[in-house]
Amino acid sequence: MLMFCPTCANVLVVEEGPNCYRFACNTCPFIHNITRKISSKKFPRLKEVDDVLGGAAAWENVDSTEEKCPKCEHPRAYFMQIQTRSADEPMTTFYKCCSPDCGHRWRD
Ligand SMILES: [Zn+2]
Ligand SMILES: [Zn+2]
Repeated sequence: MLMFCPTCANVLVVEEGPNCYRFACNTCPFIHNITRKISSKKFPRLKEVDDVLGGAAAWENVDSTEEKCPKCEHPRAYFMQIQTRSADEPMTTFYKCCSPDCGHRWRD
């Protein structure tokens, strides 16, 4: 996600401030604190996605589709669609090779 400085229109960088993360402008003194409320909503969410993909149980009872495994060329893969970022961004599709010997995972 890119944020632009409201005063000089340069791209803001995220830095760690004294109390929380904040957006800061490199070319002017503009700083916008990211409150704990927002950051605690955002960062654990990404972590949850990692947990979902890391856990084998997450791949039980999911549908498979005709998607060729890039590793072993097995013609089918299990797939899951997950909203990784904000709701207005497209879903990310994750695949897992249907071959029990391979089990390779990749994303769209
Ligand atoms: Zn600025
Ligand atoms: Zn495979």
